Amino acid sequence: MALSGLDIYKLLPKTNCKECGFATCLAFAMQLAKKAVTIDKCPFISSESKKILEESGQPPIKLVSIGSGENKLDIGNETVLFRHEEKFHHPAGLGFIIEDSLKNEEILKKLKKVNSLTFERVGQVLCPNLVAIKQKGDAARFSDVVKLVSGNTKLALVLICNDLGSLKSALEVSSGNKPLVYYTGSTGLDEVCPLIKNSDASIVASAPDLERLSDLTKKISSYDIQQIVLDTGKKDINDKIWDLTQIRRLALKKSDRSLGYPVLCVVDEADPYEEIQQASTFIAKYAAIVLIKGIEQWQALAMLTLRQNIYTDPQKPLQIEPKVYPIGNVNNKSPVLLTTNFSLSYYTVLGEVEASKVPSYIVSIDTEGMSVLTAWAAEKFTPDKITDSISKLGVKGLVSHNNLVIPGYVAVMSGELEDKSGWKVIVGPKEAAGIPSFLKNI
Ligand code: SF4
Repeated sequence: MALSGLDIYKLLPKTNCKECGFATCLAFAMQLAKKAVTIDKCPFISSESKKILEESGQPPIKLVSIGSGENKLDIGNETVLFRHEEKFHHPAGLGFIIEDSLKNEEILKKLKKVNSLTFERVGQVLCPNLVAIKQKGDAARFSDVVKLVSGNTKLALVLICNDLGSLKSALEVSSGNKPLVYYTGSTGLDEVCPLIKNSDASIVASAPDLERLSDLTKKISSYDIQQIVLDTGKKDINDKIWDLTQIRRLALKKSDRSLGYPVLCVVDEADPYEEIQQASTFIAKYAAIVLIKGIEQWQALAMLTLRQNIYTDPQKPLQIEPKVYPIGNVNNKSPVLLTTNFSLSYYTVLGEVEASKVPSYIVSIDTEGMSVLTAWAAEKFTPDKITDSISKLGVKGLVSHNNLVIPGYVAVMSGELEDKSGWKVIVGPKEAAGIPSFLKNI
């Protein structure tokens, strides 16, 4: 748990020697509490106090990194139970399970599909993060499939295997990839942990209840391994949510370091709708990794959209740069449509303008990322603000006409906007879906 300035002060030498650059130890402690300085600025602090301060500075849920390069997945490092308290920091990793019992051609086909699951939504690229290879055959087959998969995807790997020989050979062929190892065999930690440590991999600690899970993470961390991901195994969805919530609560509110790690959920449901329902529930309630078998586009899109919404900073709406966007082959007769710089508003309007095939200018007004009605209510989308913005953006110089289309929901401002801007204001449709027919008839 983070210490207060006074708590930190009690651990300092209290000599006010000024060596750290501050006039007093208390002043240094206050800066340390704000994380504005680091503890090594004080050369006289005892090693015991230093250890306490370093531990207190650790995030309550450890940051775990899986994979390497551009597709490295960072999970954990979360600080709040509820998104509105601050924000959730590292989006849950979405992964697909591929069993080594499949033929190579089937595996490659699946991988091709997984690799293509990339979507653009409100200006952000959404894609899955992991491929989990699950052992069904012998060690040779498992390492062959690990090699095949790692050569055909850039996504980070999860190795799910059940014997030490398979784990050894799989780690050899995936060296440098920093995989997450989910070892389900009976071999003791004495043999598994050194392998994990030497290969710079991370490990899943799995136990059916929190007490045993806590004991297990303590044992694993005694091997100087901190890259740990938790799992409480297959359970009824209610019990699983209970585990996920308790782990998060104990880590954040009770500073239980032994449970302060990100959590993984494996969804094992034959029905694809049930599979997505469960996976979505886990994404919403604290899972840091969700592994599923289904690789259909609709499944991935549903989960990635949900994930994007949950992991968006609630205090910073997704926004685009406020400017004039020419859509299509515009000319000086093209219509000019007004909207806000809230990403969802802009991209919804954009989709409908593109669908209309009428080249148009979309003018995005800076409303600090608020949607049309919210911005209007908050006085960020007013006739004065719009007049000022379109003047600064030089909209007048782009067209030979004098018509400005405003969203139907703010029709009430049309008269005042005309008076202030000098443009002829045309009230557009309330819903973006009405834009294509509106533009064709304008
Ligand atoms: Fe206090 Fe250490 Fe700073 Fe000296 S260097 S003033 S002992 S905090």
